[in-house]
Amino acid sequence: MITGKNYIGSKLSAKGNITFTTFNPESNKDNTIVFTEVTSAEIDEAIALAIKCFQEYKSISGLKKAGFLNAIANEILALDDVLIQTYCLESGLPEERAKGERARTIGQLRNFANLVSEGSWVEATIDTANPYRKPIPKLDIRKVSIPLGPVVVFGASNFPLAYSTAGGDTAAALAAGCPVLVKSHPMHAGTGALVASAIIKAAKKTGMPNGVFSNLNSAGVKVGQQLVLHPGIKAVGFTGSTKAGRALLDLAAKREEPIPVFAEMGSINPVVLLPKALENRHKEIAKTFANSITLGAGQFCTNPGLLLGVKSESLANFIDHLSEEILTINPTCMLHPSMKDKYEINQKKIVSQEHVSVVADYQKIAKANYAEQVVVTVKGKDFLTNPILNLEVFGPFSMIVQCENKNELQEVITNLEGQLTGTVISEDDELSDFSEVISSLQNKVGRIIFNGVPTGVEVCESMVHGGPYPASTDSRFSAVGISSIKRWVRPFSYQSWPNHLLPKELQNDNPLKIFRTVNRKSTKDEIKK
Ligand code: NAP
Repeated sequence: MITGKNYIGSKLSAKGNITFTTFNPESNKDNTIVFTEVTSAEIDEAIALAIKCFQEYKSISGLKKAGFLNAIANEILALDDVLIQTYCLESGLPEERAKGERARTIGQLRNFANLVSEGSWVEATIDTANPYRKPIPKLDIRKVSIPLGPVVVFGASNFPLAYSTAGGDTAAALAAGCPVLVKSHPMHAGTGALVASAIIKAAKKTGMPNGVFSNLNSAGVKVGQQLVLHPGIKAVGFTGSTKAGRALLDLAAKREEPIPVFAEMGSINPVVLLPKALENRHKEIAKTFANSITLGAGQFCTNPGLLLGVKSESLANFIDHLSEEILTINPTCMLHPSMKDKYEINQKKIVSQEHVSVVADYQKIAKANYAEQVVVTVKGKDFLTNPILNLEVFGPFSMIVQCENKNELQEVITNLEGQLTGTVISEDDELSDFSEVISSLQNKVGRIIFNGVPTGVEVCESMVHGGPYPASTDSRFSAVGISSIKRWVRPFSYQSWPNHLLPKELQNDNPLKIFRTVNRKSTKDEIKK
């Protein structure tokens, strides 16, 4: 049952007097459950619990943490239809998407459970002593990853499950040994509350300390700001707009003790359309991209918002086909009226720029909060001279840039901001002619795709979901996949420490049987003394 209250650790609490409801964009009406924003005193209480619990939680074995993560997955599944219905009522997204996102959330939790129960992720590295080394003896040094401390996770508007309450950031931080305080996204506070109840149940069932998780309602930015500024918080996870991500990064940097903010933000995801591929398959490519641009009403950070090609007859044919194809697709509901408003404002801002031509504009009247798809085109030289054209239009929108030649294409790519993805549509035998272009693209993105679409992010160890700023605040880390655990730990060395007092991961006999790097060799062997 959704109570509308906050979880301060395992306790339900609603001491504040600011209340709000969520909104059903499909019916264009407010939902009925009333949520109470967390108070400043409740935030302090939740953080104090997290600090206290960190001492115990960080030392809990990987196996037990895995039990906790698997229990969260089981409790989310047990929420069954109530969760799916609440998700749809608060997001306007279809049931199929809700179920897909739930499966992804469960999968992420189980992946992290497997990772921490196996244990090698801590990157234990051991350099044994050598008392005979000249001119000075070598000391015994052993390194392992340790958790940072309490972490704040901002729920994302466009992924009510997979990037929210028990989403990738939360699963990774809990797996790493960090207590988590979620700043629930106000657009789907009910979905968040249900998932929070599942986490609290799982924590109780598996004997986790109180304070390992809190869920905090907010109706405005001040809750998030207080959390980021609190000295007890040691890192922040965020998915959303560049404006908000940057504001949080600046806030964290101004603290007496600055902390890392791992923000995954805006991206227009350039797609480079090479000439032979367009010559041979412009119809098929146009259809593929019409679907990718409109997927989920374009509300994906990997939406292909920028299509780059060199002027030719086949590029002109591609533009015609894309424009036709995209207008055959029925618009779908956006997450919230504010998303639709922002989509229209940004789309109009681009359309009103000099030299921008609209090639497709869905003119039939769609329902309230449904996003009408738009495609525009501009010449390479005009794109290069107008920085406004780099704006992310969050929704079913894309811009085709027609470059005069290969050099101009390269210049356009060189002048782009950092992006999550770059895509190359090409025939095998033309790639080598564009090696410089592809090399420039690599400098700008976190993931490069060959003959595919950027939408759809596989959750696996080798995935990089991040990229140079402003795609993310730290391009060295991924926000998706098990490697994302590295955001929530720091390396820590023991020097000449007694073997029996070392963490198990570093003890001579390798009791956890994990892979370690011992004297620069990867091994599961014990260290003979
Ligand atoms: P947002 O504006 O980025 O806000 C995300 C969260 O951050 C919200 O919960 C908000 O808190 C908080 N926040 C915003 N500004 C803040 C500030 N100055 N200080 C502290 N906290 C702050 O995203 P949104 O509301 O979810 O969506 C709005 C726009 O974000 C969209 O139109 C889209 O352009 C973009 N977006 C991008 C992506 C992406 O992956 N690139 C994903 C989602 C959204 P409150 O809600 O409590 O005010």
